[in-house]
Amino acid sequence: MIVHHPSEATLAAYAAGTLPEALALVAASHLGHCATCRDTLSTLEATGGALLEDLPPVPLSIDALDRLLGRMDQPAPPPLPILNPELPAPLNRVALGRWWPVGLGIRYRPLKSSGAAWGGLVLAQPGRSFPRHGHKGREMTCVLSGAFADQDGKFAAGDLSEPAADHDEPPVVIGAQPCLCIIASEGMHLRGLLGWAQRMIGR
Ligand SMILES: [Zn+2]
Repeated sequence: MIVHHPSEATLAAYAAGTLPEALALVAASHLGHCATCRDTLSTLEATGGALLEDLPPVPLSIDALDRLLGRMDQPAPPPLPILNPELPAPLNRVALGRWWPVGLGIRYRPLKSSGAAWGGLVLAQPGRSFPRHGHKGREMTCVLSGAFADQDGKFAAGDLSEPAADHDEPPVVIGAQPCLCIIASEGMHLRGLLGWAQRMIGR
């Protein structure tokens, strides 16, 4: 049962393809769990298509149709190989670094993504707090397994956290299972050990 969803602005940016890769992967992880947001995304994509139809026509070069048909004849690129069979799509096909221990009961595995955001997997053991941090840009976290709680409530598998401001209190893992999350940020500055790891790893 999903409780926490991305904002419509985030879904619109995802539909338009303007979210940086790491943030788009977090949103896609939520979309894999959430039929409600998949419906919203379909509506946004249809709206975008309708807007395109309303644009005034522009002149094309004389061979534009031939070039388009030529491109359609080319075979589709092969799907990316599955690199991480233990993870759900689309995270099973992305390149990840190694696990780094970044404090008692917390490990971090960076995502090898391009673009203006950085991200990775965080695995925290029961009762542990996620690292304290402040934000300068957009930040998103999607729970893959286990659960955590913060001032916005409880977040379980599929829930997406998109905090607007600095956390007053760091999120804490609740329940008996470790909590695995995919996180991404445009400008999160981690404090403590994970901040040290963030600077060491360079993302
Ligand atoms: Zn949703």
